[in-house]
Amino acid sequence: MTYNIGVIKGDGIGPEIVTEAVKVLDAIGAKFGHQFNYTQILMGGCSIDATGEPLTDEAIAAAKASDAVLMGSIGGNTSTSPWYKLPADKRPEAGLLKLRKSLNLFANLRPAYLYEELKEACPLRDDIIGEGFDMMIMRELTGGLYFGERSTKEENGQLVARDSLTYSETEIRRIAKRGFDIAMKRRKKVTSVDKANVLDSSRLWRKIVEEVAADYPEVTYEHMLVDNCAMQLVKDPGQFDVILTENMFGDILSDEASMVTGSIGMLSSASLNDTKFGLYEPSGGSAPDIAGKGIANPIATILSAAMMLRYSFDLDAEADAIEAAVKQVLKDGYRTIDIMPRDGSSVTRVGTVEMGDLIVERL
Ligand code: NAD
Repeated sequence: MTYNIGVIKGDGIGPEIVTEAVKVLDAIGAKFGHQFNYTQILMGGCSIDATGEPLTDEAIAAAKASDAVLMGSIGGNTSTSPWYKLPADKRPEAGLLKLRKSLNLFANLRPAYLYEELKEACPLRDDIIGEGFDMMIMRELTGGLYFGERSTKEENGQLVARDSLTYSETEIRRIAKRGFDIAMKRRKKVTSVDKANVLDSSRLWRKIVEEVAADYPEVTYEHMLVDNCAMQLVKDPGQFDVILTENMFGDILSDEASMVTGSIGMLSSASLNDTKFGLYEPSGGSAPDIAGKGIANPIATILSAAMMLRYSFDLDAEADAIEAAVKQVLKDGYRTIDIMPRDGSSVTRVGTVEMGDLIVERL
């Protein structure tokens, strides 16, 4: 099969880490008989420098014409880069928000997986870690409190601020379906997180999730209140498979879940719409402090490419192969600087390109 991939290298370490992910994709293509075609798309600071805009209409059209987009990261040092002297809608991050909106990317997926070899970075006790954990946070990305009407007005001599939280049946149904679809590709369990004891939007959320669940008899599902979920994530993270939740709860819980894995350079993410299209990117930023030094960890971007194969192209065996190769490299004792153990004597430190090569060798 032939797949057309839009590639946004972006700024900072973006070009370095994306180059390694493309190298891994090409190796997968050769091994499994696929053709990956790449279209380079400018976004972020590099687009501002070239065109004056963080994302042009041509760039959006190129992204829309792709089967999926693989991205590095965008942005620079927010204190020193001239990009941050521009008005807010001309800064690098405005490009990413515009792209998400233009492509209607309403479902954000963030895995939190604990690698046995990186257990030391996990802040939880050994008895809590147990057999480890492997969960996927499915967060609604374009509705809820962050997109509702807001105002700050003076009333009776004092300022009063309001934010509104709105969800429609359609918005809930489409994200819930995504959550159950993903669970079908995993351990077939969904924990739907809400605050149904207080919020109307959560009570509607629960009702619609139950309706959707009826179409997935193989998936076990449960409802959990968000405050309990925040607690359970540090008490017994192994209980979760897919956590399905609305925008603000997902924002907070996904950061909590990624923290318990302890290593940002390892965490991939995907943003999906209601087609097979997705935008795949590492959870971290452009790391301007280490850009150009050849030391950035490319694994989160390589794992994002694996997510692209799994969720946009349905190439599960190919995605499994990448994930297994990453595990093997860690097992063989290779680490980039961000995942070096405190006592580094038992492992070998490698740079960005070498890490990419080692993963390709193990495919
Ligand atoms: P950051 O994630 O870029 O860096 C935080 C720390 O983690 C730094 O010390 C960095 O060196 C390290 N780090 C991050 N990724 C790494 C990797 N792959 N390998 C090794 N170390 C890594 O966060 P920040 O410093 O707050 O932000 C820098 C820029 O990135 C800002 O302009 C910010 O707006 C942007 N940003 C972009 C995205 C995105 O493109 N989606 C996301 C977050 C931040």
